[in-house]
Amino acid sequence: MDPTTVTTPLTNWREGEQLFRRRTSRPSADCPLSACWRRFELSFLERAQQRWSLEPTCFISRCLWPRLDSERTRKLLGLPRIHLRMAVSVITGHCTFGNHARRLGLPYNDFCRSCHDEEEEETVLHLLGTCRALESLRARFLQGGIFSDLSELSTVSLGALVSFIRGSGWLEPANF
Ligand SMILES: [Zn+2]
Repeated sequence: MDPTTVTTPLTNWREGEQLFRRRTSRPSADCPLSACWRRFELSFLERAQQRWSLEPTCFISRCLWPRLDSERTRKLLGLPRIHLRMAVSVITGHCTFGNHARRLGLPYNDFCRSCHDEEEEETVLHLLGTCRALESLRARFLQGGIFSDLSELSTVSLGALVSFIRGSGWLEPANF
């Protein structure tokens, strides 16, 4: 049963007003501006989350950042600038290696610089999840050896993610 439908005796007008506000989905004319703003913000976030979860592209980003999370965003933006760029480039897949580097006309490797497997291209999935040569580094910073599904890293600390990226040597500070 919806708790707001329960009829309870009201003891004063203030209690009645609070009950009215809880039952009303739209802000009333005398709703304080901050409450209106909060409702607008929540509605916007709900719609944005819905669009993000239905987005057909951005596969890597949606695995690593599946929810709009203001706390995680605050931590990301609080990283030192060079670490912020590293984290964002990996999370968005806009890295200076592999296909993205090729599209930008930048130097790139034909195969993985870490495991030297000629069948393996340098991709974000290979870096963060599957390169065997980076298993021990991954275990040290990301608490796992191999991740075939990058969504397993969606809750990893951003500091640990940056430490892993730096340790891999795939994104040299000189490239930033
Ligand atoms: Zn590799």
